[in-house]
Amino acid sequence: MTSDIRIGFTESVGNTPLIKIESLSEATGCTILGKAEFLNPGGSVKDRAALYMVLEAERTGALKAGGTIVEGTAGNTGIGLSLVANARGYRAVIVMPNNQSQEKIDLLRALGAEVELTNPVPFSNPEHFYHTAQRRSQELANAFWANQFENISNSEAHYQTTAPEIWRQAGGEIDGVVMSSGTGGTIGGVTAYLKEQNPKIATYLIDPTGSGLYSYLTTGEFKAEGSSITEGIGINRATANFNRAKLDGAFRGTDQQVIEMAQYLLKHDGLFVGSSAALNVIGAVKLARKLGKGHTIATILCDGGGRYQSRMYNPEWLAEKGLTPVAKGLEFIDD
Ligand code: PMP
Repeated sequence: MTSDIRIGFTESVGNTPLIKIESLSEATGCTILGKAEFLNPGGSVKDRAALYMVLEAERTGALKAGGTIVEGTAGNTGIGLSLVANARGYRAVIVMPNNQSQEKIDLLRALGAEVELTNPVPFSNPEHFYHTAQRRSQELANAFWANQFENISNSEAHYQTTAPEIWRQAGGEIDGVVMSSGTGGTIGGVTAYLKEQNPKIATYLIDPTGSGLYSYLTTGEFKAEGSSITEGIGINRATANFNRAKLDGAFRGTDQQVIEMAQYLLKHDGLFVGSSAALNVIGAVKLARKLGKGHTIATILCDGGGRYQSRMYNPEWLAEKGLTPVAKGLEFIDD
């Protein structure tokens, strides 16, 4: 008998199930597949990037024994990095904006990370979490700034693992892939790999309100309006990781659609996912309608709903934001 054992944290990341979402497959006449990244040890797609960035930094000597990993993050990369830090003997210093969910902040502290909260200011402000993290890494001795936005090991994790897994799990039968973008790591690595396997695969971004990527891809200019309850996605600049993406087009989704879809997946499929995953699935329905019946569409279920229980799964919080799930079917998704 051969054994099926994964060695430690490092081998526990990835190889997540690819789930056929039955309700949406039936409703669209397509096969809608969600990569269950919420089943990673740190509970999100970012475990893969965290692990790859640390392994590469160890390989190049940028991260030395007993060193400190510093990162600016919306939370999930910090959670992944804190676990890798514990598993491999490092300290983790995580800088994040104070408008992220309390669950993520509490979890980071429980994992042993030193958490520094910043005000949510524009990227041009030196107090932005990105610049603050860079400064901290310069001030601390023996520190490594992971820099997930520009560090190509981030998208490489998805080029080397997430995308080949999807391709293999679907038996090479994929007609379209769609997802949102934070650092651009997932979309950069996944679309680059899948286009190499089959250039006919339709590759799409879905962007939340308040992000400039949709306008960048459709007009060449970054223009963002409003804000969004989604966390970890949406950005107003092209990162090195995003620039790896091979994209055919872009969609947009609203907060109201996100909470409708989150409830839809929970009630119909027993899938309890976070806001970016719900947005990604909206993208999958839009792409299914665009390609027509009979196609197979893959997307990413980035993290689970537990991380947002006090927010998008809390009726009082939603009411304060003027958001209430009301739809019976999929009529909340426009084309
Ligand atoms: N969803 C969530 C919940 C995230 O935390 C992130 C990472 N910021 C993403 C999606 C986007 O992933 P990426 O950074 O690879 O674009």
